[in-house]
Amino acid sequence: MTKSQTHPSGAFDRALERLEPALKHAEIHPEALERLRHPKAILSVSIPVRLDDGGLRIFQGFRVHHSDLRGPCKGGLRYHPDLDLDQIKALAFWMTCKCAVMDLPYGGGKGGVAVDPKALSPLELERLSRGFVARMVDFIGPDTDIPAPDVYTNARIMGWMMDEYSTLVRKRTPAVITGKPLSLGGSCGRDTATGRGGFVCLHELARDRGWKPAQTTVAIQGFGNAGQAVARLLHEAGYKVIAVSDSKGGILNRDGFDIPSLIKTKNETRELKAVYCEGSVCESVDADRIDNDEILAVEADILIPAALAGVITGDNADQVRARMIVELANGPIDAEADEILNAKEVTVVPDILANAGGVTVSYYEWIQNRSGDYWTEETVHERLDAHMRTQLHYVLDLAKKHDLPFRTAAYTLALRRINEAVEALGTRRYFNGD
Ligand code: NAD
Repeated sequence: MTKSQTHPSGAFDRALERLEPALKHAEIHPEALERLRHPKAILSVSIPVRLDDGGLRIFQGFRVHHSDLRGPCKGGLRYHPDLDLDQIKALAFWMTCKCAVMDLPYGGGKGGVAVDPKALSPLELERLSRGFVARMVDFIGPDTDIPAPDVYTNARIMGWMMDEYSTLVRKRTPAVITGKPLSLGGSCGRDTATGRGGFVCLHELARDRGWKPAQTTVAIQGFGNAGQAVARLLHEAGYKVIAVSDSKGGILNRDGFDIPSLIKTKNETRELKAVYCEGSVCESVDADRIDNDEILAVEADILIPAALAGVITGDNADQVRARMIVELANGPIDAEADEILNAKEVTVVPDILANAGGVTVSYYEWIQNRSGDYWTEETVHERLDAHMRTQLHYVLDLAKKHDLPFRTAAYTLALRRINEAVEALGTRRYFNGD
């Protein structure tokens, strides 16, 4: 085990601290908070993997069940060389809150393997993924804990894991894991769900404020799965996406980019270029190069961090010029930055709501796997859009009623829903009448 795994990094305690502003409004029973402070169960395993050269390597894997108060645990599995158990606990806790704010019948979980997946061959990666499931077979299951893809894991890995689980329990069990390939029981619309959920929040709030798409400018940091999906929907709805960036830097054009052209070139060449394409012919368009710090300070109405955690901090929050930030990434804004942005009256749509489209369509995948009734992409989109709008309005109403920042309102809603489950099981008040 590495040092970071044995010495808590404080990530879990810091995550709990972010609850404090919401605790004043949520009025939950102290026992509910006590339940959240203690993850339900943690399993640490070692996974022996036969390498292609005949050698043996042992990998460490973890799975955290933070809470199953509202339903089976749900959350991603990541492959990363610097896996930090305390960070996994924090992420599992956020999943508990995310599933509660979306009113999904799930609790929170998270897990992963300490590995650099790029250093393994495809066969080694398959053996590792199947080995992980063999160790976890009694800890996961469609009624107990349902993993999903996360950092450096993907649909193919989810497919291997489902197949291994099914072999071990002697029963085809697609509902044990979500984010699978379509041919192995995945859901239509899962690949664009996170971007779509963020778009619905943004579009609904813009309407609430009377912002017209054609006069509303957007900057997006990160042009991968979530960033591209939200950019495409914004473009289709008539918003002006004026700046985008990836890990190598960004481009800015105040007239707005033709997003389908940008996506086509980025996915074909792996480079972010300011282009306009007709058919297979792409021409350069005028744009300025900007770096990854500059994109956060671009003069745009809306900023969408869709890449990494911790990009807006106490050091750069006062440079943000957007009126609204939609957190598609997990945890892009730290607590200090939150205070600065609140003082500047920047609306922050928090990650537990803004990027919850992904887990919502994972829930739809699980329903489809259990019922055997598979939905069209149109049905998935309709249900996701309606569900996002409903939950967003609960948060919006709470924020307006108590004059709260969105993050506080979202956590307040999540805490109240978790509290209902705790109260339903009975607290001291029920058993002792006080
Ligand atoms: P991805 O790997 O597909 O894309 C990430 C993008 O960020 C890439 O374009 C990469 O070039 C870019 N990037 C990396 N470092 C950068 C930097 N320093 N500055 C600017 N861009 C940088 O990942 P994704 O699935 O789109 O996820 C993005 C974020 O959204 C992550 O924080 C993830 O946890 C979160 N998220 C994703 C989902 C989902 O379903 N995909 C669900 C919930 C949350």
